[in-house]
Amino acid sequence: MESSQSASSRSASSNSATEHLSTPKAAYVHVPFCHARCPYCNFTVVANRLDLVDRYVEAVTRELTSLVHPRTVNTIFIGGGTPTLLPRAPMVRLFEAIRTWVPLVDGGEWSIEANPQDVDRDLCLLLRDQGINRISLGGQSFDAAKLKMLGRDHTGDQLANSIDIATQYFDEVSVDLIFGVPGESMQVWKSDLQTATSRSVSHLSAYGLTYEKGAQYWSQLQKGQIVAVEEEIELEMYLYAIETLTQHGMNHYEVSNFAKPGSECLHNQTYWQGDAWLGIGPGAAAYVDGIRSVNHRSTLKYLQRMESGLSPVAESQTLDWSTQTRERFIFGMRQLKGVQWSSLVNSGEPKSVEAIAQQLPKHIELGFLEWHEGNIRLTPKGLPISDSLWLDYW
Ligand code: SF4
Repeated sequence: MESSQSASSRSASSNSATEHLSTPKAAYVHVPFCHARCPYCNFTVVANRLDLVDRYVEAVTRELTSLVHPRTVNTIFIGGGTPTLLPRAPMVRLFEAIRTWVPLVDGGEWSIEANPQDVDRDLCLLLRDQGINRISLGGQSFDAAKLKMLGRDHTGDQLANSIDIATQYFDEVSVDLIFGVPGESMQVWKSDLQTATSRSVSHLSAYGLTYEKGAQYWSQLQKGQIVAVEEEIELEMYLYAIETLTQHGMNHYEVSNFAKPGSECLHNQTYWQGDAWLGIGPGAAAYVDGIRSVNHRSTLKYLQRMESGLSPVAESQTLDWSTQTRERFIFGMRQLKGVQWSSLVNSGEPKSVEAIAQQLPKHIELGFLEWHEGNIRLTPKGLPISDSLWLDYW
C-alpha cells in the first residue's frame, strides 16, 4: 500500500535537494498602474497615476540592477495592476531592463497580463517583438451587468475581440473569469464559459469571487450593501466549470486553472512547487534561499525608497525547514497531480513529513485525498473543500 511510504524512508538531505531554494528560476515584475480600482481588488495598485510611470520604470531598473549580475530564469511574469496601461516608450524600457537582468532561457515562458481594452494588433506585435510569448487577459466576464458589478472598464465584446486578436499573435492565450459575483445567476456563468470555450484560448483561470479585507466589496458586504452568492450555488458554478472545461479538452491541472495539454502556466508552478523566485516592483513578493520577502505595497513609498538608495523590502521572514516542508506540501496539493511523496520525503524536514503522513489517512478515509502513482492528491470530492483541509497540515 502506498500509504506505507513514510518519512522513515527519507534519505539524507543533499545539495541538489536545496538547490531549488537558492537559484531562482522565475521572476515576477509588478506593474501597479490601473485606470481605476475595481471594488473587489486589494492588490498593490495606483489608479489614474500615469504621471508616476517614468519614476516607476527607473525604480524597477534600479531594483533589477541590485541583483549585481544577470540571473537567467525559465519564466518571467509581468503582472499587475495593468501592465498594458504603460505608454509604449516606458513599456519598452521596462522590457529592456528585464531582458538585461533576468534573461530568459531559450524556449522560456514570458507572460504578461493585459486589459482587454488595451489589446490591439500594434500592442500584440510590440509584445511579441519584445520576446513575450504568453498573454493573460483579465477578462472576468462577457456579461454587461456582471462586468458593471465588478467595476470593470471593458465590455464583453472588447474581451471577445481581444481574445480573437491575441490568438493571431500568440500560441498561448489565457483568460481569467470570475464566478459567484453578487447577483450572478447560473445562466450567466454558463454563458461566460460557453463564450470563452467557443474561442481558441489555450488556458483559462476560473476564480470564485473572494471578499478581501481592504477591498471596497469587503466593507459593502459587512454593511449589507451587497449580498454574496450562496455557497451551494458557488459550488455548483465551480463544478460546472470543471465539467465544461474538461469536456472542451482542457486539463484541470490546478484548483482554479485549466489548460490545453502543454499550455499549463510554468511560472505559477514555481510557486506551487515551492521553488525560488525573484519579485520586483511595489508589493512584489520573492522567495530565495528560504527567505520570503515582500516589497513596500505603497507605490509612492517604493519609489521614494528606490530613489533614496534604500532597500524596497518591507518585510522578510526566514522560513525554517519545517515551514518550508509544510508549505511545499500545501501549495503543491493545489495541483491536481498532487505531491510526489518520495520527493517530499527526500527534501523535507523529517518530523514535518512524519506529521503530514500522520494526517493523511483520515482524509483518505473520508475520500478527500488519494494515492496515485506515488503522488498524494486531491480527489474530486476533496477539491471543492480543499482550503479547509490544509489547516490540519500546519
Ligand atoms: S482587479 Fe485588476 S484591473 Fe481591477 S484594480 Fe485590481 S489589478 Fe487593477
